[in-house]
Amino acid sequence: MHILIVEDEIRLAEALGQIMTEQKYMADVVYDGEEGLDYALSNEYDVVILDVMLPHKNGFDIVRELRAAKKATPVILLTARDETTDKIRGLDSGADDYMTKPFEPEELLARIRALSRRQGEVVLEEMKYADLTLDLSNYMLSAGSKSIHLGFKEFEVLKLLMANPNMVLSKESLINKIWGAESEAEDNNVEAYISFLRKKFFFLGSHVNIGTLRKVGYKLEVRDE
Ligand code: CA
Repeated sequence: MHILIVEDEIRLAEALGQIMTEQKYMADVVYDGEEGLDYALSNEYDVVILDVMLPHKNGFDIVRELRAAKKATPVILLTARDETTDKIRGLDSGADDYMTKPFEPEELLARIRALSRRQGEVVLEEMKYADLTLDLSNYMLSAGSKSIHLGFKEFEVLKLLMANPNMVLSKESLINKIWGAESEAEDNNVEAYISFLRKKFFFLGSHVNIGTLRKVGYKLEVRDE
């Protein structure tokens, strides 16, 4: 994955570059709007992370010029302001997503993954299992008339379980797929997310449970009632 970061707050820009490197993404970091536009126009990035207030050219104008040049690279706008008008202006200018500073790196990474997946792929909008519906665009899980928002890891765990409804997924395969083979996620991390999910199923009044097969793994199942 190749990411462009355009951010004039040097410490934030460097921190973002570091986060991308930790994910084994290639990252170019530039601090100026004009330069950002040049980089975005002359390379094929998977995602551009673009600050709004930048020297020489603001983020809105950069996205507009990119789109005018028929560059469809996904753009996430960053801004210190959290006003709805800015959000609308950003999305109107052709940005794909929007984050208000300060934000959690995890959240940014989730959005990068979501945007990069969206390119060139058929987008599944929701997944279903028994009475559960998982909306892939906004991480909302529903059953009947109730809905609840899932945290990113919960979402990823449940998505894998729903994508493999008849399979027992081992903790190891969940860790590899969600945290990466080289991560230091422990088994009990997985257990924690499974337990959060079970609580959310219960809250929703769903009949679905996540069954545990000792030493083997997890599987979705419908409770007999
Ligand atoms: Ca700025």
